[in-house]
Amino acid sequence: MPACTRGVVPRVRSTATIYVRGRAGPVQVKIDCVTDCLFCGIAAGQIPAIRVLESPRTIAFHDINPQAPVHVLVIPREHHPDLASLAQAGAGLLDEIAAQAALVASQSGVAETGYRIVFNTGQHAGQTVQHAHAHVLGGRSLNWPPG
Ligand code: 5GP
Ligand code: ZN
Repeated sequence: MPACTRGVVPRVRSTATIYVRGRAGPVQVKIDCVTDCLFCGIAAGQIPAIRVLESPRTIAFHDINPQAPVHVLVIPREHHPDLASLAQAGAGLLDEIAAQAALVASQSGVAETGYRIVFNTGQHAGQTVQHAHAHVLGGRSLNWPPG
């Protein structure tokens, strides 16, 4: 039984993969629960979200503060803090996020007109939720370079 299920039941239970520097390079360590992660809460169904697409390892849902007529977030169910850690997870997880994002764009009717996939990563990029997520933005002309 994972430590997080002993004693007080945590508000959010999920799987996390963290990477620590070992003598022979980065070591992948799996932990069983991440408390106080908003998107883990959405993945667990504990926090409501308008879901538009799901796969065994991913969920897509409407952004609560849309910046374009189509603004959907695609997340892994498993906790990864950012794109770099998602890429390191391997097993095609990042490919699956990209494929789901393209499917969301197609289902939302913006595949023809074009759309943008964004992974804000870190402070300067304005990442506010530390659970990797792809923004799918479309339905209007998007400025370049971004602000
Ligand atoms: P970031 O700023 O980390 O790239 O993106 C986080 C996104 O999550 C923001 O666009 C923000 O509007 C969205 N967001 C924050 N809280 C919630 C929430 O409770 N529900 C949903 N659906 N989206 C949220
Ligand atoms: Zn999380």
